[in-house]
Amino acid sequence: MDSDMRSEWTKGTPIRSGADYIESLRGRKLNVFLLGEKVEEPVDHPIIRPSINAMAATYDLAIDEPDLATAESGITGEQVNRFLHVAQSADDVVAQSRMQRRLGQLTGTCFQRCVGMDAINSLFTVTAHIDADHGTEYHSRLISFLAEAQRQNLVLGGAMTDVKGDRSQGPAGQVDPDLFVHVVERRSDGVVIRGAKAHQTGCVNSHWIVVMPTLRLTASDRDYAIVAALPVDSEGITYVYGRQSCDTRALEGGAGIDVGNADFAGQEALVIIDDVFVPWERVFMDGEFEYAAELVERFTTYHRRSYVCKAGVADVLIGAAALIADYNGVAKASHVRDKLVEMTHLNETIYGTGMAASHESVETPAGNYEPDPMLANVCKQNVTRFPFEIGRIAQDLAGGLMTTLPSELDWDDPELGAVLDKYLQGRPGVSTEHRRRVLRLIENMTVGRNAVGYLTESLHGAGSPQAQRVQIARGMDVEAKKRLAKRLAGITDD
Ligand code: SF4
Repeated sequence: MDSDMRSEWTKGTPIRSGADYIESLRGRKLNVFLLGEKVEEPVDHPIIRPSINAMAATYDLAIDEPDLATAESGITGEQVNRFLHVAQSADDVVAQSRMQRRLGQLTGTCFQRCVGMDAINSLFTVTAHIDADHGTEYHSRLISFLAEAQRQNLVLGGAMTDVKGDRSQGPAGQVDPDLFVHVVERRSDGVVIRGAKAHQTGCVNSHWIVVMPTLRLTASDRDYAIVAALPVDSEGITYVYGRQSCDTRALEGGAGIDVGNADFAGQEALVIIDDVFVPWERVFMDGEFEYAAELVERFTTYHRRSYVCKAGVADVLIGAAALIADYNGVAKASHVRDKLVEMTHLNETIYGTGMAASHESVETPAGNYEPDPMLANVCKQNVTRFPFEIGRIAQDLAGGLMTTLPSELDWDDPELGAVLDKYLQGRPGVSTEHRRRVLRLIENMTVGRNAVGYLTESLHGAGSPQAQRVQIARGMDVEAKKRLAKRLAGITDD
C-alpha cells in the first residue's frame, strides 16, 4: 500500500491514491469529539488515523488490483472505484464480494466503504420505483449526484440507524420527535433536517453522508421518510467518536506492538444532525413513507451479503492462530491442525453463503443487480455466530499469555527486557518480539480494538440476529416444503 507517500492532490480534482484520499480529509474543520475533547484534525489523531488508513486501502487496491476494485460506470462510461459503482450484472455483485474479502485480508478490520456502496445500489432501484409511481425526479437527482461522486472518487457514507429511543414506539410515537431523523422545515430551495444516527461506520472519514430511514414507516411518519445526501462538513453536524476497547493504547507510543494492529482500525461515531439544510437536488425521498420498508430491505440485502468482509478478516486471524502454534512449537499437533480446519470450515461457510447470494443476483426493475435476499440473510446470520467460535479457537491456540503479556514498555528496560526474553521464549529460533506481535494481533482482533469490527460489528452491524431471522422466516416458504414432504410420503388428502 502506498498511502504513506506524499500526495500532490488538490481540492476539486479526482482522488486517486490512498495518499490523495488522506490529503482530501485535511482542513475540513469538522465538529468531532473524542474522549471529551474537540479533535482539531482527525487525520493526525493517533486513535482515528488507523481507521482512515483502512479506508485509504480501498483507494490503493483500485490501483494495485484494478480488475477487482474498479468497474466501468453505467452512468459515465468511465472506469470508477467499485465502491461507487451501481452493479450492472451478477458478476459485478460477485466482484464486490471478492473485493470485500481481499480488503478484509489487507486491513484485518472494517474498511468502512461498503455502507455507501450498498446505499447507492439500493437507492438506485427505490428512487426509480418512486419516480415511476409518483412522477418525482429522485432517480435523476441520484444519477447526477453519483456521476459527480464517481468523477471525484469520493467516499459516500450511508447513515441508516437512528438512535430510536423507546423501541416499543415508531418515530411519530416518541416523546421526543428528534429520536429519528426527520424534516423540520420545507423551503422553496430544500429541506431542513434534525435528529441523530447511532454508531455510523466511517462517517468522519467520508466526504458525504446519505441519510436514510431505518425502518418501515406509516402515514403518521411522513416527515421521517427522508433520504438526503449531506456533505460531512455541513454546518450543524457534530460527531461523537465511539470508544473501542484498548483504543488508548495508540496514545502510548512505543513500537506499536501492544496495539496489535498498529496501522488499521474501524470507526463508529454518533452523528448529531442539528437543523442541517439540504438543497432539493440532494434529496432522494421526501415524504413517500410507503417506500421506506423497500429501501431498508434492499439495503440490508446488499449489506448483509457484504459481511463476507469478515471472511477476509478471519483469514488474518486463522493465519495468526497458525503462527502462534508454530512459534509455540506445536504446529504439527493433530488437535492444532484440527482446530485450524474448524476455523477454516466456519470461515468458508460465511464466504460460501455470501458468494452464493452474489452469484444468485437478479436484475431489479431499475436495471441494476441485487443479491438473493434469503442467502444474504443466511450469510449475515452466519456472521453473527461463526466469528465468535473462530475467535474462541484463536484464543485457545494463543493461550492466556495473549492477555497477560507484559507491556512493551517493560521490554524497553534493558535488564527487565532480558529477563522477559528468557522466560517468555517459545520454540528455538523464534524471537520473543515476533511471538509478542502475533499474540497482540490475536488480542487486538478478539478482545481489543478490532474486536469491535470482527465480533460486535458482526453481531449487530446490518441488523442484529433477530432481524435476519425475521427475513429468513418471511422467505422460507414452509408450505411449499410441506407439499414436497407430503408428495414423497404419499399423503394426498389432509
Ligand atoms: Fe464493509 Fe464489513 Fe465494514 Fe460493513 S463491516 S462497512 S461490510 S468492511
